[in-house]
Amino acid sequence: MPTMQNALTSSTADPQSAVLLCVDKHIAKASSYFDYPLRKPQVTFRASGTRAGTAFLHQNRVNFHRILLQHNLHTYLSDVVPHEIAHLVVHSLFGRVQPHGREWKLVMQSVFGCRPSVTHTLDLSVLERKTWDYQCACTTHQLTTRRHNAIQQKKRIYRCQRCENILTVSP
Ligand SMILES: [Zn+2]
Ligand SMILES: [Zn+2]
Repeated sequence: MPTMQNALTSSTADPQSAVLLCVDKHIAKASSYFDYPLRKPQVTFRASGTRAGTAFLHQNRVNFHRILLQHNLHTYLSDVVPHEIAHLVVHSLFGRVQPHGREWKLVMQSVFGCRPSVTHTLDLSVLERKTWDYQCACTTHQLTTRRHNAIQQKKRIYRCQRCENILTVSP
């Protein structure tokens, strides 16, 4: 059984902070492109369902799935954040139009310089798995998703009691 330790790590790799910066950057880009002062949306990180992100147009709010974000940060910054922010921008500027119509495509391509893909290629398996394989120097340990997430968020490290090596997730 692994033992638990608190780890003191810097928070530079915090995915939620990275997303908040990314949101601000895209709102600023759109504001300057259209010369229109777009309001910053409220950003939430609720983990429900399997949607990577959801734009709530009438609340000027966007939700990003906390667990999917932890495991797909790169896709969020390059794809999911621009996709959802584009929905808010289109709603503010053009009102009721097709969700992924030409206004949305314009914002994605011309304003954000992104590929206007409607679906995201995300690893959804993280939502289904109950245990995770972690390796030390001597064996494989099964960790719960709760512990796995704590490790991925750099809140905890775990060591093998026998060999005392830090556990790392199996590829
Ligand atoms: Zn969409
Ligand atoms: Zn070991």
